[in-house]
This record gives sequence, structure tokens and C-alpha cells, in this order.
Amino acid sequence: MVVVKITLKTSEEYIESLRKRRLDVYLYGDQVKNPVDHPVIRPSINSVAATYEVANDPKYEGLATATSHLSGEKINRFTHIHQNIEDLIKKVKLQRILGQKTGTCFQRCVGWDSLNALSIVTFEMDQKLGTTYYDRFNQYLRYVQENDLVCCGAMTDPKGDRSLRPSQQADPDLYLRTVERRDDGIVVRGSKVHQTGGINSHDVIVMPTRTMREDDKDYAVSFAVPNDTEGLIYIYGRQSCDTRKLEGVEFDMGNPKYGGQEVMIVFDDVFVPWERVFMCGEYEFAWPLVDTFSAYHRQSYGGCKSGVGDVLIGAAANIAEYNGTAGASSIKDKLVEMNHLNETIYSCGIACSSEGCKKPSGTYFVNTLLANICKHNVTRFPYEITRLAEDIAGGLLVTAPSEKDLKNPKIGKYVEKYLKGVSECPTEYRLRMLRLIENLSMGLGSVGYRTESMHGAGSPQSQRIMIEREVNMESKKKLAKIIAGIEKDELLEIEK
Ligand code: SF4
Ligand code: FE
Repeated sequence: MVVVKITLKTSEEYIESLRKRRLDVYLYGDQVKNPVDHPVIRPSINSVAATYEVANDPKYEGLATATSHLSGEKINRFTHIHQNIEDLIKKVKLQRILGQKTGTCFQRCVGWDSLNALSIVTFEMDQKLGTTYYDRFNQYLRYVQENDLVCCGAMTDPKGDRSLRPSQQADPDLYLRTVERRDDGIVVRGSKVHQTGGINSHDVIVMPTRTMREDDKDYAVSFAVPNDTEGLIYIYGRQSCDTRKLEGVEFDMGNPKYGGQEVMIVFDDVFVPWERVFMCGEYEFAWPLVDTFSAYHRQSYGGCKSGVGDVLIGAAANIAEYNGTAGASSIKDKLVEMNHLNETIYSCGIACSSEGCKKPSGTYFVNTLLANICKHNVTRFPYEITRLAEDIAGGLLVTAPSEKDLKNPKIGKYVEKYLKGVSECPTEYRLRMLRLIENLSMGLGSVGYRTESMHGAGSPQSQRIMIEREVNMESKKKLAKIIAGIEKDELLEIEK
């Protein structure tokens, strides 16, 4: 009998592990001594905790866990390196489930995608340049898997003047760079912005953000550090309606338990030991790392966004029932359209996984054209799904009074009486459902569902560039010429 050692953490252990760190966090201009219990931050921690809950839930056995190719142990799938096509498909399915459970961004995929991208690119770097990054990376990966860590994948630099390369900027720190090379490691300075789950992670994995030339060598750097390393500063990003979490009202938040998190991370001369450095000056591999990570993360959106879309579609269907409009053919048709768009997103996530391939390191990689199509649809469809949800919800979505008014001893009865929809539905349910739609379309949840759908994993233009690169236009032109009788079908000629 094979004894399998289990390295899974529970959600409680995850939350406790966050308490042990000493982070330098700022929110609304003040330092936050205890981010774990801060009412603005805690919902985002609950979302990451859900990735531990599913891994410990027998219902998701095999989907939320995997077997490590390094140790043979059972691990959380969020630390797994994809070993076959099935792993790629399971990734998208797991992300959809977590989107359905949390109704927001659960943050753990960025680090997962970084690990998989590094497992491919460090190997290829070693093959071409004779470096030893792949072994070093695998030692780090083993540590991540054994400790069931959350990694934050940090790619986006502030970029300053977009028309200038990293080394041409007036301020050289506008892209993160190596400022010192020592015998025992390197010192880095700069910032990474829009960092999903930065405060909720154990480690930060840094990668470059664009192509680099020889002049930009110092900017071609990738490494991992614990997120309480000296010199790291976290500045919390505001989200629409975030102060509702401080008002002591529950359903005005729309999604009281869960939320996303985006932070700016400052690297104020941070020391990184060599054993945690995965690229240092190999500028020609900066783009392959960006490209590989981006394709994985564009696949990810096929899962998480369709899962959150399920919640919004469900909310729209519920509010139609509460309003008494569910039987109208126009409402039914709008719900069909929302489902059509949402399943298209999911289909693309599954398709780019099914058409994946094995890379020289053994890691399975997605079909990059289809991953880019997936994310490009995500830059559009959630907007249309949101528009339709707002259409179905009605104007009360943005004019409804507070939960506190409903509970006010004097005026509560008027809110109850005049904001009632169908008689069998309590007014509170109607208001709760509207707040959830508000959360996803323009409130706290809209960061993860709408604007992140546009800019997360690269803005639409970056996918259009990749689509142009990946599509074989010459072969399409040839097909048309053959059918139009301009060129002969060489294959048929051979067969004759
Ligand atoms: Fe995961 Fe989606 Fe959040 Fe990215 S946006 S970290 S894929 S949940
Ligand atoms: Fe994202």
C-alpha cells in the first residue's frame, strides 16, 4: 500500500499563517497593524481561504487537489504544475466553481500561473544559456507545495512614460530592477501595481512585464520573496463602495463575506538570496516569461469569470421573479443571451486547455491563440452580461435606500410596504438581490468582474496583437484561392 503524505492546509490554518507575518500595509493613509481582521481587507482573505476549503472538501477531491510530480504527495491544485491536458481542464473547472462560491476574485491563480510559466521558461533558459535556474525553481516549488503557500504573481510595473523603454525612463525605478549584485544575492528596487491578493499571500513572485533589450538587462529579473521581507511596502487599492464595509451594515455590501484585493507593492531596496532568483539579466527570456504567464492567465479568466457570471445571471433571474417579470418573454430572452455569453467564455477556457501541448520541461501549456480569444471575449461579454442584469433589475438598483432605513423603527414600514415586489417575496430579499447586482456591476465586486475583465491578464489590444501573431493568415488565403480556382490544391495533386 502506498502511503500518501498530505500537505494540505485548512482554511483556518491559512488564516492563522497570515497572522504570523509582519507586513507594512497602508490603507486610507494609515498603517494597518492587523490586516487579517480589518473589515475592509477580511472579505478578500475569505476568498483565498475558499481555495483551501474546496481542497479539504471530499466533494471536490481530484478537482481541487492533485498529486505533485516532484514529491508524489497530495497537494492543493493551486500549487500544481500541469502534467497533462486533464490538469489544464481541471484548472478551469475549479476556477469556475470558486467563482460561483465567492462571486469575486479568489486571487490565488496569479501565483499558480507564475509557477507554471516559470517551470517552462527556466528550463528553456537553462537549455539555451547553460544556466541552472530550473533546479533552483523546482526546489522553490517543492517548498511552496509542501507548505501549501499562496503566491502573488507580480508582473505589472508602473511603466511611467509608455513611449519609453525601461532603461530610457527619466526615473529608472519605474520598472522594477536589480540595483546591486552581491555574492549572496541581489538587491531590487521598484514597484509592482494592481497586485491581486498581495497582502493575502505568503510569497511574492516577481516577473518582468514586457520585452527587454540588452540596455534593459537590469530589468530582466524574476525572483520570489516572502511577502514580509524587509523593504516591502503594501498600499491598498480603493474599490468602489469600499467604505460600506465600515458602516456595520450587512446586505448593503451585496456580497458581505467575500471580496477581491488589489494593492501597490513597493520594493524599497529588497534583498533576494540567489536561491530565490529565477532570472537575472537574461533579457531575451523576459518576453517568453511574460507571454507564457499571460497565456495561462488568459485561460484562467475562462473559469473564474464564467463562475462569477453564473452568480450575476442567477441574481438577475431572481430579481425578475421578485419583480414579477420572470414570465415575460423579453426577460427570458435576456437571460438566454446572458447564458450564451457566459458559456462562450467558459467554452474558450476549456478549448484552450483541450488544445494544449507538452513543453520541453514536461509542463503542459495552453493553446495560446485560443487563450487569447478567451480573454478577448472576457473584455466584452461581462460588460454585456452586466448591462442586461441592470436592464432586468430596474432603476431601484441605484435608488434603493439603505438596510438601515429598512430596519429603522419609524420609516422601515414604508420601505417594506412601498418597495415590495410580488407579495410572496419579502422586501428584504428584493433589496438584498439588488445589492448583489450592484456589487457585481458597479460596487466592490465590479473590480473583479468588470474592470479586471478589461485589464487583468492584459488589456484588449495585447490580445489583438497576439491573435494577429498566432493566426496563420497565409494558409487561410491559400484555402480561399484553392476554392476560387486560383491555385491548385497541392495535397490533391499529390493524391492523384
Ligand atoms: Fe483568479 Fe480570476 Fe482573480 Fe485572476 S481574476 S486571480 S484568474 S479569480
Ligand atoms: Fe486577474
